[in-house]
Amino acid sequence: MRLKEQLSLITRKQFQLPPEQCGDCQLYEALLLLTRQEAQGRPAPSGERKLYYFSAEFLMGKLLSNNLLALDLYDEAREVLSGMGRDLGTIESLEPEPSLGNGGLGRLAACFLDSIAALGLPGDGVGLNYHYGLFKQKFARNRQTEAPDPWIQPESWLIPTGKSFSVPFGDFDLEAVLYDVAVPGAHNSYANRLHLFDVTQPAPPPEEGIAFDKEDVAHNLTSFLYPDDSDEEGRLLRVYQQYFLVSAGAQLILQELEERGYDPQTLADHVVIQINDTHPSMVIPELIRLLKDRGMSFDSALDQVRRTCAYTNHTILAEALEKWPLAFLKTAAPQLVPIIQELDLRMKKAHPDPKTAILDNKGLVHMAHMDIHCGFSVNGVAALHTEILKNTELKHFYDLYPEKFNNKTNGVTFRRWLEACNPELAALLDESIGPAWRRCAGELEKLLPFAEDSAVLERMLEVKQHNKQALCRALKTEQDIQLDPESVFDIQVKRLHEYKRQQMNALYIIYKYLEIRAGKLPKRPITMLFGAKAAPAYTMAKRIIHLILCLQELIENDPKVRPWLRVAMVENYNVTWAERLIPACDISEQISLASKEASGTSNMKFMANGAITLGTLDGANVEIADLVGEDNIYTFGAHSDEVISLYHGEEPDGRSYRPLDFYHRPAVEKLVDFLVSPELLSIGDPAELSILWKDMKSKDWFMALLDVEDYLAAKDRCLADYDDRPAWAKKMLVNVAKSGYFSSDRTIRQYDEDIWHLA
Ligand SMILES: *Cc1c(COP(=O)(O)O)cnc(C)c1O
Repeated sequence: MRLKEQLSLITRKQFQLPPEQCGDCQLYEALLLLTRQEAQGRPAPSGERKLYYFSAEFLMGKLLSNNLLALDLYDEAREVLSGMGRDLGTIESLEPEPSLGNGGLGRLAACFLDSIAALGLPGDGVGLNYHYGLFKQKFARNRQTEAPDPWIQPESWLIPTGKSFSVPFGDFDLEAVLYDVAVPGAHNSYANRLHLFDVTQPAPPPEEGIAFDKEDVAHNLTSFLYPDDSDEEGRLLRVYQQYFLVSAGAQLILQELEERGYDPQTLADHVVIQINDTHPSMVIPELIRLLKDRGMSFDSALDQVRRTCAYTNHTILAEALEKWPLAFLKTAAPQLVPIIQELDLRMKKAHPDPKTAILDNKGLVHMAHMDIHCGFSVNGVAALHTEILKNTELKHFYDLYPEKFNNKTNGVTFRRWLEACNPELAALLDESIGPAWRRCAGELEKLLPFAEDSAVLERMLEVKQHNKQALCRALKTEQDIQLDPESVFDIQVKRLHEYKRQQMNALYIIYKYLEIRAGKLPKRPITMLFGAKAAPAYTMAKRIIHLILCLQELIENDPKVRPWLRVAMVENYNVTWAERLIPACDISEQISLASKEASGTSNMKFMANGAITLGTLDGANVEIADLVGEDNIYTFGAHSDEVISLYHGEEPDGRSYRPLDFYHRPAVEKLVDFLVSPELLSIGDPAELSILWKDMKSKDWFMALLDVEDYLAAKDRCLADYDDRPAWAKKMLVNVAKSGYFSSDRTIRQYDEDIWHLA
C-alpha cells in the first residue's frame, strides 16, 4: 500500500479525520505508528550466532526521520506531506528525544545498533527503559538546574512484547517487563530490536528537581539513568539497576536460545554478548547461575560463559572503573555472591598476583577484572587507548592474556551524522562524487581530486554558511540567543568533565577578552559555543559551567568586546542539538588531556561535516591526524606518554606535575587570576569561583595549565588561517574525504570479523 493510503487509514482510525484535517501533532503520531508498524513487520536477520549488545545506555536521538530513511519512506513521506501543504521537518521536531543515555558511550551503542542492522547482522541491544533520563538541563542565575526529562508518551517507539521475567533481589522479587524498539536496517529489509526492561509500576516524575526515594526500588528502578550516586542509597540503587538489566537480559537470552531449538550447553556456539563498559558485568555470574539451575556443572557453565562474553573498555579514569562492595551485592543479588567468590578463588589460584584479583582485600569486586578473566575478548576503542590498556592500565592482564586484547576504533553512523543532519553537504557530495558514499563511507575519498576545484570548494563554504545560519535561527527561536553567522564558530560540545578541559577553553575566552579590552582586535569576530551537562553530584564540573556562563554574561554586557567575541552555552545539550551544531561548526574543540579520552566520537562527527579539529593527540584524534596530515588539523599539547609519567612522581599527591610552576608564568597567571577578578566576582558566586581558582593553581588534576600556552597559540594560528578562505575550504574538503574510516559500519565489520563471527 502507498504511504498516503496507509497514513489516511491511521488518522481515520486514531482521530476519525483525514490526514489533511489533522494537526501537526496528530500527523506526527500517525507517522510514528506507520513507521513503527513497518519496522516491526520486518524479519530479523538470520545467523548461527546472535549478538546481544548489553549497555546501560542507548542515546538514540529522535527516531522518526532516522527510521523513515532506513525504511526508504522518507522522500515519499515528505512529498505526501508537502502535497498537503505540510512540512516533514516541522513534524519531526515534535518528537521528544528518548532520554535513554547521557553521552558518548550511549551514543556509540546507538550508532552500533544502526550499523548492525544496516549490515544485516543478527544483533539486539539490551538495556533499561528509563523514564526521566539523566535530567533536563536549564540555566538559572548562571547555574545548571536539573529537572526530569520524560519522553514516553501514550504512543512512543516502545512496543509491548507481553514478555516479562522475574528478577530475584535479596529481599524481594521484581518483575522485569520487556518493551522493544524496532531497529530497521538501512538498504535492506531486516530489523533488529532494542530490548528495554522496565518495572511494572514506574513512579510518576518528582514534582520538583530530580530527587526521589532511592530506597523505593520497586517503583524507581527505571526512573533515572545513573541516579545521583553521591550517597550510599544512590550507589546501591545503581547495583539494583545493573542486576535487573543483566538478570532479565540473561533470562531472555536463554529463552530465545531454547526457542531456537538449542541446548544451553551450546550457548557459546549460538550467542555472543558484548559488555559495553563494566555496567552490565554481572551478566557473567548471572549466566553461570542460570546455567547451573539448568543442570550444568560450574565448570561447564563457566566454560560456556567464557566463550560467550566479550568486554569493551571505555575509560582509564580510576573513578569510572567500577568496584562494588560485596556487601551491596549481598543486598541486591545475594545469589551471585558465592559465584563471584568461586570465580575469585579460581582466578587467584591460577594467577596469584593481587593486582588481577576479582575480589580485593577491602571486599571490593572489581568488575573489569571479572570481565577480563571470564570473557574471551577485551577491546579498547581507539588505537592509542588500546595501547595504553596493554602497556599501562591493564598491563598485568595483557601479560596473562595477550590473545584477548584487541582494538576497535569507534565510529559513528554517517546516515545520521552526515546524510540526515547535513542534507546540503550530502547533495554536494552526490553532485561531485555520486551517491555510492551513502552505502560505503570509504567512497568519500573520491572527493580528494576536487581539492583544487574552486567551484566545489566554494560550494563547501556556502553549505557551511547555510548551516551556520540555520543554527542561528534555531538558537534564536529556542533560546533567544542571537549570533552572527559571519563569525567563526568554535564549538566544544560533550559532557562536562575536568579531563575534557572546558576550563582550558574558558581560559582562552579570558585571554581573548583581555586582548580585545586592550585594543587588540581579532581579524574576524569569534563565537565560542558550548554544550555540556554536568553530573548532578559533580560539583567541580558545575563550577566550570558557572564560570562559562559568567563569562557569557560579562561579554554580553560589554559593548567593547561583544562585537568581537561571543560566548553561548546551549541548554540541555542532546542529540538533537548535536545534529544542528555539528554541521555548523568551523573549529572542533577536542582538547582532552592526552591519554584520558579513550576515543571521542564527536571529533569524528565534526570531521565528517567539514569542521577542522583543534585538539590534543588523544583518543581517536591521533587517527584523525594520521589520516588528514598535519596541514589539515591543529594539534598541540603534551603527548600521552609525558602525561602518564607526570602522574607518577615525588610530589605529595604522587605526581611530578606542579601546577604552580605553570601558573607563575606571566602569560598564564593573569588568566587564572581573572577567575577572582572584581569583574567576574560581581557576576558570579565568589565562593564557587574562588574554589575553582584555588583548585586550578594547586591541584589542576587534569593539567589544564600544562597545555594552556600551547593551546592559546594553536588556536590563534587556527583562527588566523580561517581567513584564507580557499585554503580553509581545502582543509574542510580533506577532512570530509578522509572521514569515511570513522563510519561505524567499518567498526561493526571489525567487531564481527574479530570477535562476534555472526555470519
Ligand atoms: C557524539 C555525542 C557525544 C560524545 O561526544 P564526545 O565529544 O566524543 O564526548 C555526547 N553527547 C551527544 C549528544 C553526542 O551526540
